[in-house]
Formats: sequence, C-alpha cells, structure tokens
Amino acid sequence: MQNHYVALTEILDSRSVINTDAIDVRYHVDWGGVNPCAPSLVLRPEDSTALSKALNYCNEQGLAVVTQGGMTGLSSGATPLVGEIALSLERINGITELDCEGMTMTVKAGTPLQVIQQAAEDVGLRFPLDLGARGSCQIGGNVATNAGGNQVVRFGSARALVLGMEVVLANGTVMRSMNKMIKNNAGYDLKHLFIGSEGTLGVITELVLRLYPAKKTQQTALCALPDFASTTTFLREIMAEIPGVTSFEVMWQNYVNAICEVNEQVRQPFDEQHAIYVLLEAEGCTQDQFHQALFDKMEDGLVSDALVASSLKDSDAFWAIRDGVADLMAGLNGFATFDVGLPISSMEDFVAATDNALQARFSNINNLPLGHIADGNLHFITWTGDPADVKPIYDTVYEVVHQFDGTVTAEHGIGMSKREYLPLCRSSEELELMRVLKKTMDPKGILNSGRIFLDE
Ligand SMILES: Cc1cc2nc3c(=O)[nH]c(=O)nc-3n(C[C@H](O)[C@H](O)[C@H](O)COP(=O)(O)OP(=O)(O)OC[C@H]3O[C@@H](n4cnc5c(N)ncnc54)[C@H](O)[C@@H]3O)c2cc1C
Repeated sequence: MQNHYVALTEILDSRSVINTDAIDVRYHVDWGGVNPCAPSLVLRPEDSTALSKALNYCNEQGLAVVTQGGMTGLSSGATPLVGEIALSLERINGITELDCEGMTMTVKAGTPLQVIQQAAEDVGLRFPLDLGARGSCQIGGNVATNAGGNQVVRFGSARALVLGMEVVLANGTVMRSMNKMIKNNAGYDLKHLFIGSEGTLGVITELVLRLYPAKKTQQTALCALPDFASTTTFLREIMAEIPGVTSFEVMWQNYVNAICEVNEQVRQPFDEQHAIYVLLEAEGCTQDQFHQALFDKMEDGLVSDALVASSLKDSDAFWAIRDGVADLMAGLNGFATFDVGLPISSMEDFVAATDNALQARFSNINNLPLGHIADGNLHFITWTGDPADVKPIYDTVYEVVHQFDGTVTAEHGIGMSKREYLPLCRSSEELELMRVLKKTMDPKGILNSGRIFLDE
C-alpha cells in the first residue's frame, strides 16, 4: 500500500491522504458499530476534481474504495472491509448557492444535514428532511441511502427532495446534472440511479435540493388508541381533516413501558396504559382546528385520550419517548433492530404473525415495535438476552416479511448487514438488472464492493 500512498499523495496532496498508521478510529466503523476495520488509507479530497483524479487512479489500479459520509449509517455500508481505501467526503462541504425565489439550495455532498436545515431556516425557508442523526450525517449520505425520517408522510424521502446532482463515476468521470427545475422529462432522470444505491454506482459530490416555505404553525399531540385497527383509520381520517400532518409516529405499549423503565426523565404520559400511542404533528392549522379534530376522533372512539402540547417543552417530552430508543439499545447485550416496510393494510397481521413466529422459536423473547406507520415503515428492537440468538431472530422476522410481501429495509439500506436477505424482497429479474447496472457502471467493482450484493 505504501506505493499507492506515495502515488495518491502526488495526485492529491499530503493533507488529503492519511497513511495507514495515522488513521483515526472514526473511519473504522459506522454508527451500527459492527465489525470495525481500519481502512488501508483514507482519502480526503478537497473538491470533485481532486476526487475524480483519485478515483481514476484507484480504478486503473483496481483498488477497492468505500465511500464515507457522516458514518451514522446502520447497515455497515460505510464500514471498511480489509484492504479497502476509505474515501471521505468530509472536506467537500459547504453551501454553494441559496436561491430563495426558486426555493432551491445547492450544496456540497459532505455538508451536515443540520447545517442545511439551519441555512434554509435563516432565510425563512425549510429543508424538510429530518432524522435523529441530523448533526452528524451528511447530505451525500442521506441521498445515497434515500434517508426517510420524521416527515416523510408530508415531504417524501430524500429522493423527493433532490432536483440535481453532481456525481463522480468509478473511472473518475464527473457527471454534472445540476437540474434546478421541478419538472424535467428530457430523457432518463439519471440522478435516481444514485439515490438509494448506497454508493455502489458513483460518489455523490454536489446536490441541488428542493426547499419549502417555513412552517408558520405547528401542533403536536400524543394520542392514546385502543388498538392497532383504530390507528390506520385514525391516520386516514386525520389526514383528510388536517392536510398538513407531518409526523405520525406509532409506539406500542410495551415500547413506551420499556423507555420509561430505562430513562427516569421519561414518564408514563397517561394515568392509564393504552395499547397504542401516536405522536401526531401537524402544521397549517390553528390550535382550535387541531383540538376539534382530535375531539371528534375521541367522540368516534378511535382515540381514547390525547395530550396536546402547549409549549415546546411539552412537545420535546413527547418526542423524548419516541427518540428514547437509543438509550434502550445502549443497555442491551445483543439485539436485532429492524426497519422493515409493509403495505399499511397488512401491518396489523404482520405484527401478530411476527410475534407468533418469535414466540414459537424463542422462549425468552422481547419485541418492541414502533414506527413511521404512515409511510409503511415499522421498526422493532428484539432480543432474548443471548447474543447467539440475534442472527436466528433476523432469519425469523425476515421470513415473515417475505410472506407479507414487505421489504427488509424501508430506510437504512442493505449495506453489508442485510445482503443475504435481499432476495426475500426482490425478484430474480430485479436482482439481475441491478447486477447489470453495477457491472456497466463499475466494471472493475471498485466502489463499495460487497455492499447490497452478497455474491459480488
Ligand atoms: C440516531 C440515528 C437516527 C437515525 N434516524 C434515521 C431515520 O429516521 N431515517 C433514516 O433513513 N435513517 C436514519 N438513521 C441512519 C443514518 O443516519 C442515515 O442512513 C443517513 O442517511 C446516513 O448518512 P451518513 O452521511 O452518515 O452516511 P454514512 O453512514 O457515512 O454512509 C451510508 C452509506 O452511504 C454511502 N455514502 C455516504 N456518502 C456518500 C456519497 N457522498 N456518495 C455516495 N455514497 C455515499 C456509504 O458508502 C454508505 O454505503 C439514523 C441513524 C442514527 C445514528
């Protein structure tokens, strides 16, 4: 590797290449923390021209490269494999243009999400992609994983917020497709090849993002529901009455109980316990309209009880229950986490079937469901206390996902952690076409090799 270090230092400069013995642990593993591994070198180019030259060299030499954004991924996609060179986007960051009239922002791919949100807010606009890792994740990583988050029900995933893109292909070709228009039907919309393909087809270096006007009002409530069947009806009816629903986060009773147990700051929200809790957030309506809509749902029996936030402190307390999942995981010794997707109509049966399948196979199973139900995305945290059960838990749950025609990942991507399960939710024809694309765009297989496909 020493000769490649020398050559890459000449192509870039000594600041842009970190040699084997000086590599910080932050380049070793993503947030998921599975199988940390030091890369053989780290490249930190300062712009896409430098990145292009470095990639061209790696391609000619057949050197495997893993692209790294903010390293908050949960699927081991950015974690290096032995011998791989890490390509970090951390220095390719900053806002290039803010077009307030056209409501677009042009940004370098290494810009943290929160910086983009703040810059939009400062001019009375808004970039509505939002997730818990906002302070560390980069917009390039968000787009590469087609990240979802808390407001997908209203604004869509990252894909819906990207208008244009600059991407560097495996051989170093820089493809600029910096479209700023919402409608453009001139030929193939190539940006979609790179959105959600987890860095396997190219390295995203710059983006044109779609902005929205800032919200003027926001209402938040924590609602208690008698059962899951009421949840889907409540979702449909509340969206008809309040078009500005931005979040509809569902938590099962056992999840809320577990969060209250691990975190003393989080209290049971209601005097009585309820089967289901919905964290509802909406904008574009008055507090009276919001109250009235919830009151009507209580009259109909869909909602058993509701707490409406009257201050930011109240809404933070509601969100602390939803976001307490990280505290919960920190205290567990070996657990499986899921971000599966299902048609909303199958969700209740799916949850019951999953519970049955887990109970049948494990004697001491804990299974806590929660999710962004409005976009068909369900999370579970599942464990028995024995780390050896983690893999069989994944096998069991993904088999049920397959039976219900769901997807093994609605948000976090396949990376390396779900490769063997991809055929459970994609047909052989789909997989074959994916391989053809990969082979065509990266014939030497240098980009994020071993991610998405098990047999690559
Ligand atoms: C607390 C917490 C909350 C989270 N909540 C959510 C959530 O609500 N919704 C959600 O979808 N995810 C969520 N995530 C997962 C994670 O934050 C997202 O997947 C995020 O989009 C990853 O961005 P990143 O910059 O950290 O990417 P990384 O982890 O660095 O990389 C992720 C993948 O993208 C590739 N990649 C990174 N940058 C580029 C680039 N410029 N060009 C090409 N490929 C690239 C990498 O090779 C890797 O395969 C959460 C994570 C944490 C820790």
